Amino acid sequence: MSDCVFCKIATRQIESYIIEESENFLAFLDIHPHAPGHTLLIPKNHFKNLSELPENLGEEFVKIAKKTAFLLSKAFKTEHFTIGINQGSLAGQTIDHLHIHFLPRFPNDKGGSIHSVVYNKPEEDLSAIYQKILKVKNES
Ligand code: AMP
Ligand code: ZN
Repeated sequence: MSDCVFCKIATRQIESYIIEESENFLAFLDIHPHAPGHTLLIPKNHFKNLSELPENLGEEFVKIAKKTAFLLSKAFKTEHFTIGINQGSLAGQTIDHLHIHFLPRFPNDKGGSIHSVVYNKPEEDLSAIYQKILKVKNES
């Protein structure tokens, strides 16, 4: 997409600190790091979210995700990461081009776990929630 900042990074119209690249993916440093080594992994083509990512890119995606984590773990001497996607504006997605955040974690870095992102306790019990999902699954 012509006005997408991550498309422009992928085509080198905008500079970035690229740490790893494969045929269809690129990993580069986040411009506003929330941790040392905060990295974004993107598909080079414009897919809005994980649902749009073609399944045939799955193996390449896992491979570069593992390589990204490996490089960061060695560079920053930590095995601890928060890895995640803000998918959709309600979840905090500000750039509509799929990107996976890699946040190296350190002792006393004042961060929390994924559980601290939201606590919207459901009113229904787990069984009712499960039935809702099964219904969709059986109809699809
Ligand atoms: P999100 O809120 O999940 O959509 O995250 C978007 C991320 O993109 C933010 O962490 C920004 O700091 C980062 N970002 C925005 N523009 C650039 C850029 N030109 N180069 C690197 N990272 C960027
Ligand atoms: Zn894009």
